[in-house]
Amino acid sequence: MNDSLKIDLHTHSNQSDGALSPQALVERAHQAGINVLALTDHDSIAGIEAAAEAARAVGMSLVPGVEISTAWRAQAIHVLGLWIDPTSPALQGALAAQAERRKERMRTICGRLSKARLPGEALLRAVSGIPGVATRTHLAQAMVDEGVVERTDEAFRKYLGKGKCGHVAVDWPGLAEGIAWITAAGGVAVLAHPCRYGLSAGARRRFLTDFVTAGGKGIEVLSGGNSLQHLESCTRMAETHGLLGSVGSDFHSPQFAWNPIGRSLKLPDCITPIWRGRLP
Ligand code: AMP
Ligand code: MN
Ligand code: MN
Ligand code: MN
Repeated sequence: MNDSLKIDLHTHSNQSDGALSPQALVERAHQAGINVLALTDHDSIAGIEAAAEAARAVGMSLVPGVEISTAWRAQAIHVLGLWIDPTSPALQGALAAQAERRKERMRTICGRLSKARLPGEALLRAVSGIPGVATRTHLAQAMVDEGVVERTDEAFRKYLGKGKCGHVAVDWPGLAEGIAWITAAGGVAVLAHPCRYGLSAGARRRFLTDFVTAGGKGIEVLSGGNSLQHLESCTRMAETHGLLGSVGSDFHSPQFAWNPIGRSLKLPDCITPIWRGRLP
């Protein structure tokens, strides 16, 4: 590997729940010394063209990506599609269906919040006005703006998180289906933030076996904010299941100090990088 490479393969723009426009994201990454950047918005490829143009202007390599919400045995699992073809009709159709699922969920959540005597209608109006497809991050921000909570993490803790009145399970596509969309679009499927799913060791083994069987190729060995313990655990998962390693900050906003873009993310030497042979 070329040591001058600085890579971040997991970031968000304001086409999902990131704070920056695709152009501003690319510029920030460039300033931070990144030379290979993937834009991986939640269930959206709307920012890729603008990001690619901005990347060309500064001589950076932009990896077209997406972070797809899927489900495995009722557990939501995020799968990154890297090096996807954003013009793939199959992928575009699948993402349009994801957007509908998200809109339906948002209506249901806001209805539940109204029942809990919160301003559900005003919240729904607020999130309907954003540029891309609204996520729970947007709703949490709207709850801050409406004075329902003081901070977005409070919105998740009190209302939107698992077990709370505004938590609505989404009928996400199955893991294998989500991976198939990525593969059909010529992309590579990578498991995002492997330590964030709360699976037991046994369930994790079964899950990773299914992930590989469905065509999953990589795993984020380094993910924003992760500890050394996470790194060791993810390295073992990659080795045991024969997965390539990826690195990504999961950058959302300059305000979130724990996963800055451009943080040094170096894979352990025993792991084969997902980008080997794929960079220009
Ligand atoms: P969604 O895809 O609409 O379910 O929204 C999930 C997004 O909400 C994640 O990608 C995170 O960016 C954000 N999120 C999830 N849990 C929390 C939390 N506890 N505090 C703040 N943001 C969160
Ligand atoms: Mn997010
Ligand atoms: Mn995620
Ligand atoms: Mn993400």
